[in-house]
Amino acid sequence: MRTCVFPGTFDPFTIGHKDIADRALGCFDRLVIGVGFNQAKPEAGEAATRRAQAIGRLYSHDDRVTVEAYTGLTVDFARRHGATHIVRGLREVKDFEYERNLADCNSAISDIETVFLIARPEYGYVSSSMVRELIANGYDACRFLPKEES
Ligand code: ADP
Repeated sequence: MRTCVFPGTFDPFTIGHKDIADRALGCFDRLVIGVGFNQAKPEAGEAATRRAQAIGRLYSHDDRVTVEAYTGLTVDFARRHGATHIVRGLREVKDFEYERNLADCNSAISDIETVFLIARPEYGYVSSSMVRELIANGYDACRFLPKEES
């Protein structure tokens, strides 16, 4: 049983994130989507729990997927779930530089391997901050957000 953790802030969880999660499911037996939050920020835990519940509804038909809010180090979260791998998405060089530092740090402190999936070209420009900006300015951002399956 190979378990992978997909950590992120997911504020909100976009079609780009969903694509990475779905493709990771093609490589692992179980996927744990971890909605990370900073305990020092008031209300952050409740907001992350609400986001985790919303993401969980997208996968309610798939028992390979668990979604949970967490705080603290991702490697500790991964260990608690018996995960051997962390998956992250790469859109551009900026992502690579940031992600490489994280992956280096995680491999220095644990045996957990980080794997990267390259964003599909059609989702490469999609980001949570872009979606938040659209919504804040009264635009409909639905097409960047995954739909629940019925
Ligand atoms: P974090 O705050 O941990 O960077 P995000 O929620 O912004 O969390 O992103 C989680 C992961 O998803 C990161 O690896 C990020 O690079 C990746 N990601 C974000 N948007 C996309 C996208 N459109 N396509 C592919 N990967 C993405």
